[in-house]
Amino acid sequence: MKEENLLAIDKEYIWHPYSCIGSKAPMFAVERAEGVNIILKNGKSLIDGMSSWWAALHGYNHSKINQAAKQQLEKMSHIMFGGFTHDPAGELAKRLIQILPDSLDKIFFADSGSVAVEVAMKMAIQYQQAKGKSERYKFATIRSGYHGDTWNAMSVCDPITGMHGLFSKSLPIQYFLPQPQTAFFDEWNEQDIQPLKDLLIQKSDEIAALILEPIVQGAGGMYFYSPTYLERARALCDEYGVLLIFDEIATGFGRTGKLFATEYTNIVPDIICLGKALTGGYLTLSATITNKQVADTICGGEAKCFMHGPTFMGNPLACAIACASIDLLFESDWQNNVKRIESQLQVELDPAKRFKSVKQVRVLGAIGVIEMLNPVDLNCLQPKFVEKGIWVRPFGKLIYIMPPFIISSQDLTRLTTALLETIKEEYNE
Ligand SMILES: *Cc1c(COP(=O)(O)O)cnc(C)c1O
Repeated sequence: MKEENLLAIDKEYIWHPYSCIGSKAPMFAVERAEGVNIILKNGKSLIDGMSSWWAALHGYNHSKINQAAKQQLEKMSHIMFGGFTHDPAGELAKRLIQILPDSLDKIFFADSGSVAVEVAMKMAIQYQQAKGKSERYKFATIRSGYHGDTWNAMSVCDPITGMHGLFSKSLPIQYFLPQPQTAFFDEWNEQDIQPLKDLLIQKSDEIAALILEPIVQGAGGMYFYSPTYLERARALCDEYGVLLIFDEIATGFGRTGKLFATEYTNIVPDIICLGKALTGGYLTLSATITNKQVADTICGGEAKCFMHGPTFMGNPLACAIACASIDLLFESDWQNNVKRIESQLQVELDPAKRFKSVKQVRVLGAIGVIEMLNPVDLNCLQPKFVEKGIWVRPFGKLIYIMPPFIISSQDLTRLTTALLETIKEEYNE
């Protein structure tokens, strides 16, 4: 299709994430992508600073993942998971069990991050019911979280700054705690856990689970907080019979510098959600993984089974791709790559700390965040980034990058240089 035809059809008929039909927001027609380069239909090449929202760890169009996909396609792209199992699911289970904390080994393969969160929440409800605690049907979480766009996932996103305020009247009411004030690199302040303690003392008999994005809050604010918060939360959850769910859909597979963010702590959640980078950004696939005790309790309950089963559950093509992506991660020197990106981001984003328009610059693992004092104008900034040959998509006050792990030091410098230049020009810094 010609670029102008595509853009015309798109404008007339197609929704984009959080968009309007016919929107005047800038839209770019992409032709293909390779390594860290995104090639537009007009021939322009952009260095990818987003990893397609945390997912494309190995960049785009990777020969090894392509090969795995082709091999699986020739066998079967999909087969129903009711009554059938297959090698891709078995191979992926083997790999996940090997790399996750020991107790987490009962796996539910779902089709997107939001569904993985729904599944985790349903598990928690069924678990409590099986324990005879059917009045425990609410969830606790912290402010500024993001857990997805489906109904119950929405209910645990930040109720005010989150993207779902409009729905608040029809969403289940959950308990929101303040965001932990102790940032990742700060010394732990014991006061930080008091709100959770108070809530559990008063309301634990209504609460099925506490759901958190460990260490890094993603789309809700790109904030990095203390591992000690998670350790204290684990102890309190145990004391009050509340399950602990870690949503590692954004943090999983090395992004924070650890394979899973939970590895910054000495504790393990009862349920973990994975998605995004699970397939290296190739296809949608997610997993909700729990331990034997939770799984056994659910299956000993009234329903005698876990009540969820999507049509495309355990999709073989997606599972085969996930296996190839995980293998590639472990064949690569990912830890050093993430460290290299981290140190480079620390140095190269540092000048932004002195910009008047910037509130804070923070870096953890392969995530670099420039928090502005005021919300940015995406429609104005995005084309300027593109003009300079980089792909960065800010939201709210946050301009952030999380490039594929394979990005070269040179390309990363190009990315950060163009990023800072654009901000300088836009804000007269
Ligand atoms: C992206 C994200 C989700 C939702 O995943 P989708 O695949 O977009 O449904 C849930 N939780 C976290 C932490 C995420 O970053």
